Amino acid sequence: MNGKTAARNAAHETCESFLNGSAERLRLAGVASPRLDAEVLLAQVLGVGREDIHARPGYFLSARQAEAGRALIERRSKREPVSYLVGQKGFWDLDFFVTSHVLIPRPETEILLERFIQTARAAETLAPNVLDVGTGSGNIAVVAAREFPAGRVTAMDRSPAALQVARENVRRHGVGGRVRLIGSDLFSALGESAFDFILSNPPYIASGALAHLMADVKDYEPALALDGGEDGLDIYRRLIPGAWGHLREGGSLILEIGMEQARAVSALIHRHGGYSAARVIKDYSGRERVIQTTKVSHG
Ligand code: GLN
Repeated sequence: MNGKTAARNAAHETCESFLNGSAERLRLAGVASPRLDAEVLLAQVLGVGREDIHARPGYFLSARQAEAGRALIERRSKREPVSYLVGQKGFWDLDFFVTSHVLIPRPETEILLERFIQTARAAETLAPNVLDVGTGSGNIAVVAAREFPAGRVTAMDRSPAALQVARENVRRHGVGGRVRLIGSDLFSALGESAFDFILSNPPYIASGALAHLMADVKDYEPALALDGGEDGLDIYRRLIPGAWGHLREGGSLILEIGMEQARAVSALIHRHGGYSAARVIKDYSGRERVIQTTKVSHG
């Protein structure tokens, strides 16, 4: 097809024909939800919602729209995540800005936040001082700050590029005055402090398992946010003792964990000696997902 023919065909592309062709292209590329992804990407190009596309399937795309749409479909067919292509991901009741410098927020992480909120309310700690370790997009920090309008949050990440994304989300969601962002490899750059809560969704995938993740994840999401070392537990080994030094007595440590890690992480907590017995919380699919403990004094 020469350039002229391509332009003419593009000019005659409707939403419906674009979606049919694109969904087929994505299906052949092995994308899990081809039709949905094509709709989301086309809606992005047109600057409308998916429902608007459904309402006007016969709408003719301009040559420029068709071209922009094809470019996004091409990237998606190489398994670049939709969230990166559209620059955002819904989490809790908010839309978070994301780039490939941060992990895409996962619904499972809402379990961690629910535990935090329940624990703080039950203790009537309504102005909690919260630390989020490895904040990434800032999703945990932002939700924590919004759920407790009198609370304060410190969010840390070792990646400067991730912190910029978190900064944008903090601004976007109006919690800039109460969320402090710090560039820090775990607790290294954090001064003296006694937090009521330390929350973290650390990297917990075993290095050897990274290569087996789906292409969308392993080829596009930051290894820094995923790689937990040889057995996936490296960060917990540093995080659990480190957090103890930054919690007040009675303060809570709440961590997301990977599949099959509950027993090993509970053992790390037990062996430390300065924490209460660990409690394991399951997600909605019945998987052990979050671990919670309280700082007690040593010995
Ligand atoms: N806190 C972010 C999240 O839960 C990032 C976590 C990470 O990068 N491991 O999505």
